[in-house]
Amino acid sequence: MKLYDAVVIGGGPAGMTAALYLLRAGVKTAMLEKLSPGGQVLMTSEIENYPGFPSGLQGWELADKFASHLENYPLERINDEVREIELGTGIHTITVGEEKVQAKSIVLATGSRYRKLGIPGEERLLGKGVSYCALCDGNFFRDRDVAVIGGGNSALEEALYLARLVNKIYLIHRREDFRGLVCYQDKCFKHEKIEVMRSTVVEEIVGANEVESLALHNVVTDERSQLMIDGAFIFVGFEPIMDFVPDAVAKDRNGIITDVEMRTNIPGVFAAGDIRSKLCRQVASAVGDGATAATAAFSYLQHSGL
Ligand code: NAP
Repeated sequence: MKLYDAVVIGGGPAGMTAALYLLRAGVKTAMLEKLSPGGQVLMTSEIENYPGFPSGLQGWELADKFASHLENYPLERINDEVREIELGTGIHTITVGEEKVQAKSIVLATGSRYRKLGIPGEERLLGKGVSYCALCDGNFFRDRDVAVIGGGNSALEEALYLARLVNKIYLIHRREDFRGLVCYQDKCFKHEKIEVMRSTVVEEIVGANEVESLALHNVVTDERSQLMIDGAFIFVGFEPIMDFVPDAVAKDRNGIITDVEMRTNIPGVFAAGDIRSKLCRQVASAVGDGATAATAAFSYLQHSGL
């Protein structure tokens, strides 16, 4: 079984930054990543708030820049899904695909996955008009009518992206006030293609073989209605991906609990990025988490005597 000083699990901005810092410190590092590096950033249309890129850039472009930064370092990569971590005293064993590797320290950086509404029709019509990714599926709805469900930054930002493609967008939020940034709210509310529906809950996504309409409930007027649409884009938040993380690692419903140095309650196990229980979920904060976790892991390796 191969033994690494550090194993980074997840290849998004947090994981890639942690790997970069560990490698530059001369730590023998492997990165385990299910798919290609990038994480959620790959599904983001435009990133306008990552410092250094005042004109904004596409999510994939930033992911590409992060990945190319790692090319000059001896990073070992395993592209498979992590199934299990067995915590040991000092050395931990990770099952990735059919393989097992050992690590003196681990950085957990698997990020988050989109949250589902959990309503009738959502699962059945996935890929038949239901989508969680405007960048991936927006083009299928060129000149058609779609709904965007959610009131956070993702919903607002992705509605603005879709507005370049589709005929009409109904932006449906369950409350009166939107959670997303005022600058995105202003752009959405002013946009001629976007109609905002507040205090409206989607109760069902209706359609025989593809999305045909939404069953809506206005919670202020108690009115129920049917809205004819061709696509339903759902952006109602994210959940940390931590199914494979052992019970012994402290977590709450929002993610893994760390201190300010990204240390979990288990010595040698660190967490960075969206997998953490925290408020700010940004590429910039993921990068900061990754650098902090790597620095703490390096210090741990130096002092643990392993
Ligand atoms: P979010 O901020 O958690 O917002 C989720 C939205 O979905 C909220 O408006 C919420 O309504 C609504 N919602 C949740 N469950 C629902 C349900 N069952 N039915 C209907 N609506 C539901 O999630 P996000 O927009 O995906 O953003 C995630 C994080 O990434 C945030 O920290 C966000 O700031 C960040 N982000 C930042 C940017 C940026 O800075 N450019 C872009 C994208 C995301 P309530 O408001 O009523 O709770």
